[in-house]
Amino acid sequence: MKVVVIGSGIVGSAIAFHLASLGMAVEVWEALPQAGLGATGAALGILMAVSSAKTKGKTAQLRLDSLAIYEQWLPLLERMTGRKVLRHRGIFCVPHDRALWQQLSGVRAAQGYPLQPQSVWGLEGFFSAADRVVHPLNLLWALIESAALLGAKFHWGRKLVRGEVPPADRVVISSGLGSSSLVNLPLQAVGGQCVTVEAKHLEGLPATHIVDDLGDFNIVPLGNSRFSIGATVEFNPTVLPRAENERHLLDRAAVYLPQFQQAKVVESWANYRPRPIGRSAPVIEFLPDRSDWIVASGHYRNGILLAPITAQIVGEMIFSLA
Ligand SMILES: Cc1cc2nc3c(=O)[nH]c(=O)nc-3n(C[C@H](O)[C@H](O)[C@H](O)COP(=O)(O)OP(=O)(O)OC[C@H]3O[C@@H](n4cnc5c(N)ncnc54)[C@H](O)[C@@H]3O)c2cc1C
Repeated sequence: MKVVVIGSGIVGSAIAFHLASLGMAVEVWEALPQAGLGATGAALGILMAVSSAKTKGKTAQLRLDSLAIYEQWLPLLERMTGRKVLRHRGIFCVPHDRALWQQLSGVRAAQGYPLQPQSVWGLEGFFSAADRVVHPLNLLWALIESAALLGAKFHWGRKLVRGEVPPADRVVISSGLGSSSLVNLPLQAVGGQCVTVEAKHLEGLPATHIVDDLGDFNIVPLGNSRFSIGATVEFNPTVLPRAENERHLLDRAAVYLPQFQQAKVVESWANYRPRPIGRSAPVIEFLPDRSDWIVASGHYRNGILLAPITAQIVGEMIFSLA
């Protein structure tokens, strides 16, 4: 069975790795000369399944299932490539609505994922031991290298154009925002900006997820007094990254940890998340007019988390046709 996967972001690369490990002949076509230049390269790497307040519906289960696959993939990918992929075990969550989180704790405990009440740097929250933080680019390259070790072939600078049919038994469109120009999948580009800062006296701070009245944001410790903070959620973005966003992210973090008020910005970056219009994320389905093509795109804010379960579902869809 020959499969051509379009796009080598986290979704396409995870699919390539999984299909190659099932013994399929896999080719990946990537429009750009290298991997990681799309949404994946901008991600913080938060795998927030258990500490997500969403407990009902298809996506809530997909998050938990994907996290479970990562428990096997992360050590395997690290062994296969020697790359350090896992950044943190566990995420400390500071909720806006504590009563909601007491309820969430009950649901998660019944599912076998305890949320432990904890106080960190004077902040009251819950520690979710099962959630993870990964290094997105190391993970991406570990998937690509492992897929290649299993026989997958990557073609850089090879763009699929609308109407072109790759020579394959099955085609998977996993080209993030680029998918909407290839197939009929309306996607909205939702901007997101992050900063990396140097802040003293915060040694030992865990990876932290904060929910405030503007939404939510994350603080990821990188070591050597460096922290990434993000991301903004911009439905009508102008040009990103923007200088005002740096101050905005620092001010938001300083409400909880005043050490961030004086922090020095060392890097600022941004990209656009693929959000399906008029339907929930992600979209994983056969094309209505080509039953040998599958679209796996529109992962919006959770593409890193949902990449393994997407790959597994795509594998099952391909077998269902065989
Ligand atoms: C600031 C920010 C922070 C984020 N943080 C997190 C996080 O902490 N956790 C999380 O789970 N998610 C996070 N996300 C979301 C996550 O990054 C995305 O959901 C995910 O990267 C989408 O992956 P993808 O492979 O679909 O798309 P992409 O990474 O954009 O990859 C698509 C690839 O397809 C290629 N392509 C496009 N068109 C074609 C074509 N015609 N032919 C060939 N190739 C093509 C592109 O060049 C690109 O390389 C974040 C996103 C942003 C912007």
